[in-house]
Amino acid sequence: MSRSSPTPVPYFADHARGFESFRFVYPVVSRRSGGISLGVNLNPDKVCNFDCIYCQVDRTRAPQERFVDLPRLLQELEQGLELVLGGRLFEHPRFAQVPQQLRTLQDMAFSGDGEPTTYSNFDQIIQQCVEVKRRAGVPQLKMVLITNATMFHRPVVQRGLRLLDENQGEIWAKLEWGTEAYYRLVTQSSIPMNRVLQNITEAARERPLVIQSLFMRIHGQEPPEEEIAGYCGHLERILQGGGQIARVQVYTVARPPAQRFVEPLSLETLAQIAQQVHRRCGLAVQWFGPHGAEGQLG
Ligand code: SF4
Repeated sequence: MSRSSPTPVPYFADHARGFESFRFVYPVVSRRSGGISLGVNLNPDKVCNFDCIYCQVDRTRAPQERFVDLPRLLQELEQGLELVLGGRLFEHPRFAQVPQQLRTLQDMAFSGDGEPTTYSNFDQIIQQCVEVKRRAGVPQLKMVLITNATMFHRPVVQRGLRLLDENQGEIWAKLEWGTEAYYRLVTQSSIPMNRVLQNITEAARERPLVIQSLFMRIHGQEPPEEEIAGYCGHLERILQGGGQIARVQVYTVARPPAQRFVEPLSLETLAQIAQQVHRRCGLAVQWFGPHGAEGQLG
């Protein structure tokens, strides 16, 4: 496996949360969405129930907000949709260099500065965002939930997931480890790994999930082979347990990570992991370097 590290490109590396006067909604050019994604930040306090060593949330700056101001969030979402759909976003210096092929609005994404499903009225906020996209004339716009899957067992989250199912939702659930020890190293969490695996399996029985898997070098070391083998084993067991997986995204860090000892993985190694997943699990796999989509199998 190669040890060369790819260099990020500016527009993929810029996922700044602040845009003009916006506090909760932020447009980004997303590698994995393949264009403009309108982020919705349900964790402006920057608190997360994981503490991933690769986390690319900028916690060097204090949060500007502690709580979600719902009317303001919905207003920003409406304005954000107008900005992108009307093309005015690309007059802004941060977006003026974005190539034409990446200027399409791909989705609104519940992501932000923590785990979105920890938001207490998760189902209600999803419903209100559905209404905004309908009013904006884009009822078919995809709604992506970027999640660590730790809260799927909660009824309020299950209701939110079903609302997403009914409204062009796509759930991108994090799974990127084999052993409990590596899971704990990566997430720094006390939530048991099996809780997450069980949540993913049960949610995947109801609808196909997208599995998102970030791999990195830690202290210069690529992920050990046993972790990749164990990770493939988890994917196999989800399928054997009746879960559906739409596709797997294998990617690496593109922005400064929480810990300095974390570095991007080489494109060659990302491709090798993707091939292993495809070969062993028969799943569709995409892989992404800091420059965007690099390949696809299945
Ligand atoms: S789950 Fe996401 S937001 Fe939370 S620490 Fe991990 S990468 Fe950061």
